Amino acid sequence: MNTERTLASLTFASDETEFFTPMPAGYTPGKTRYVVVFGTVMSGLGKGIFSSSLAKILQDKGLAVAPIKLEGYLNHDSGTLNPYRHGEVFVLDDGMECDMDLGTYERMLNQDLGRLNFSTSGQILSSVLEKERLGRYLGRDVQMIPHVTGEVKLRLRELAVAAQADVVFVEIGGTVGDVENAYFIEAVREMSYEEGPSNFCFVALTYIVEPDILGEQKSKPAQLNLKLLNAAGIHPHIIACRASATVSKKVREKIALFANVPMSRVFSMHDCDSVYVIPEMLRGAGIDAAVIELLGLADQVDVQAEERARKTWSDYINRFRSAAHPITIGIIGKYTSVRDSYASIIHALEHAGAATNAKVQLRWVDSSDLSEENVAERLKNLHGVIVPGGFGYRGVDGKLACIKYVRENGLPYLGLCYGMQIAVIEFARNVCGLAHAGSTEIEPDCPQPVIDLLPEQKKLEGLGGNMRLGGRDVRLTLGSAMARLCGSETIRMRFRHRYEVDPQYIRILEEHGLVFSGRSPDHPIMQVLELPADRHPFFMATQAHPELTSRPLHPQPMFVGLAQAALNYSGVRGDIPAPSTAASEGTRASSVVRTGGAPH
Ligand code: GLN
Repeated sequence: MNTERTLASLTFASDETEFFTPMPAGYTPGKTRYVVVFGTVMSGLGKGIFSSSLAKILQDKGLAVAPIKLEGYLNHDSGTLNPYRHGEVFVLDDGMECDMDLGTYERMLNQDLGRLNFSTSGQILSSVLEKERLGRYLGRDVQMIPHVTGEVKLRLRELAVAAQADVVFVEIGGTVGDVENAYFIEAVREMSYEEGPSNFCFVALTYIVEPDILGEQKSKPAQLNLKLLNAAGIHPHIIACRASATVSKKVREKIALFANVPMSRVFSMHDCDSVYVIPEMLRGAGIDAAVIELLGLADQVDVQAEERARKTWSDYINRFRSAAHPITIGIIGKYTSVRDSYASIIHALEHAGAATNAKVQLRWVDSSDLSEENVAERLKNLHGVIVPGGFGYRGVDGKLACIKYVRENGLPYLGLCYGMQIAVIEFARNVCGLAHAGSTEIEPDCPQPVIDLLPEQKKLEGLGGNMRLGGRDVRLTLGSAMARLCGSETIRMRFRHRYEVDPQYIRILEEHGLVFSGRSPDHPIMQVLELPADRHPFFMATQAHPELTSRPLHPQPMFVGLAQAALNYSGVRGDIPAPSTAASEGTRASSVVRTGGAPH
């Protein structure tokens, strides 16, 4: 049969065929390999960490990998999700607000991702409904199969083309058996048939329970849930068994027997001390070799590149494990017990600790009952303080008290987004004498609004989805502490905010000694501030979210600066890492083509 004709007949909706599998321009079926990871039994097994580790060990072999997370919820993106319920909202360079797993992929793969790497049911269904209105389905009744599944397949293939990927990693959100993700599973089943049997590798992540009352591992929930996958027409090639302790041979044999998967492809994935050791754990178990064999990629493996990548990574792990000097950093926030909502900050501190030989401990300080009276007590024995991003008025007074204390007592300070805005309010009130300084976010009729809506936001107010989002270049002031830390004149950081320092107040703030050491290259938007060395050893804040771009192999300079200052404060002179890390910030490999730049 003529392949081109077959393809054309598959690609467009028509009355003559039941098939519908739209292909993007430039796509060659059978060229790209796909690894699909499903979760069974329950969520929270670390599917994102597992998938990204697996992607990393294939990337180490010299293969171009591109991850995509398929998320079952109907929200268009994660922008409107509550971080205390769903974990932090991660922002990509192109402004996409997405699941925190995308942060895991970026850190593991040391790669900038974009909107093609994240699809929700909301996006997929909107796109299908829009095409229906445009008459693209040529009189057909629009159905879950083949039209919605066709849209899913289209997105996977679009990513393959844009990223020129050898292997696309598909992580299906939720758990097999959920109504929400059933059509994703159907789409990859159809697609594996279309692309050819050796182009797809299905990996099921499952969970082995070990109830206290029994004191032994049981495989029944895993067996039953793997059957659900079979019922959906998917026969997994690889099964990874999550458990707190190493999964016994007996349990793996049962899984192999009931799921019809050879023993050599049933792996134990037990808990370990850092997510960054998981790639080596998977390699040690031989999962990489199994995937390479199943996908027929042996010819493309670059053994030397793999050795180099392993060495670089294990150097990082050794630095992190052997970090000698303990420092304690306080994170001031609301509901501070929810670690997932501050995931990237925790990672960024770990990266900075490894770079400076500091063993970073965290202390969560709840801002809601922090006051000028108790702040000294609450911040006792800390070597550094972070006020992270946030919204609304809750806890603001506590944060103001905290910033006043650290500023006056020389305790190292790093403010992130809201943490910069509140630092400006504190400085305006207590140093510039603007007693009524505030933010219109907290107090709409504030008489001295040092923090106010961005001009473009004023026009958009009330429309929703109106934040300034994504990566922007920040021009640094020569000779500033920030420029020294970064070792460059510009740095790219990611933003997610509506408010900013009102340009009217910049002069008075500067006259009183506040230094704006990072600015937007072409707008009066203040992006980094600091106090000069004669006034404070380390007082720095940014309108951006530098935690989002910190990577194990490229620690973010502001966090490195904080760790360094905290070491000094604790009485240890830590190693000062070369500031080369920031220079490469904006030039890292990207797995997607940038889809339109951010305005400024
Ligand atoms: N609420 C502030 C703003 O919208 C800060 C946002 C943040 O910290 N991400 O500008």
